[in-house]
Amino acid sequence: MKENIDIVRNRMLEAQKRAGRENENIILIAVSKTQTIDKLIEAKNEGLTIFGENKVQELVEKFPQISGVDWHLIGSLQKNKVKYIIDKVKMIHSLDSLELAAEINKRAIAIGIKMPVLLQVNIGKETSKSGVYEEAVSDILMELSGYSNLTINGFMTVPPISGEDSTRAYFRRMKNLFDNAKKLKYDNFDIKFLSMGMTEDFEIAIEEGANIIRVGTGIFGKRVYKEE
Ligand SMILES: *Cc1c(COP(=O)(O)O)cnc(C)c1O
Repeated sequence: MKENIDIVRNRMLEAQKRAGRENENIILIAVSKTQTIDKLIEAKNEGLTIFGENKVQELVEKFPQISGVDWHLIGSLQKNKVKYIIDKVKMIHSLDSLELAAEINKRAIAIGIKMPVLLQVNIGKETSKSGVYEEAVSDILMELSGYSNLTINGFMTVPPISGEDSTRAYFRRMKNLFDNAKKLKYDNFDIKFLSMGMTEDFEIAIEEGANIIRVGTGIFGKRVYKEE
C-alpha cells in the first residue's frame, strides 16, 4: 500500500505542477468503503488520516475501531440516518436536498455543533446519481443560508464516466459554480472546498481546481464487495 500511496501523491504533485498549484494544499481523502480496519490502520500509518465512507452503517461500525482519524460521509444519506453520524463525521459531501439540510441542521442544533457540508451537484444529470442540478444551485444556496448550524463549505460531484475532454468540461463547470458561490456573503457560508476527482480522474480534477480528491482503488487496490 505504501507504494500505491506514493504513486498517488506523485501523481497529485505532477498535476499540481501542471496547474501551477504546487504550493496549494490539496486534501487527499482515502475512500475506505469495503476495506478492513487493518487496511485503514496501514493507511493511517502512511499519513492518511481522513477516511471517506459511502454507507452510514459501515461508517458507524468502523468508527470506534480506529482513533486519531477523521471521517467524511461521501455517499447518499437518508434523513432517518442522520442521527447515527451527526456526532461522528467531520464533513458531509452528499447534501442533496433541503429536506436533508433541515434534518442535519436540527440534529446539529441538538448536540450544539455546526456541521460542515458540501452541496452535491449531479453535473451530468444522470438518473443513477444523486445531487442537485446545476441550474438549481443558486436558489438552493439561498435557501441553505437559513440553516444556522450548517457550514456550507462548497461542492462535491461525481461526473459521468466519459472521455478526458468531457470529464474536464464537467469539472470546469463545477469550478465555475464554486467561484460564483465564493462571492456569496451569507453568515453560514465559508465556500472553500471543491471535492472532485477519484482514482481515474483526479489529475484532471486537480488541473481544473479541485482541492479535495477522493481516492479509493488507487490507494487500497480493487474493492471486493461482500455478498449481502
Ligand atoms: C467509491 C467512491 C470514490 C472512490 O472511487 P475510486 O475510483 O475507487 O477512487 C470517490 N467518491 C465517491 C463518492 C465514491 O463513492
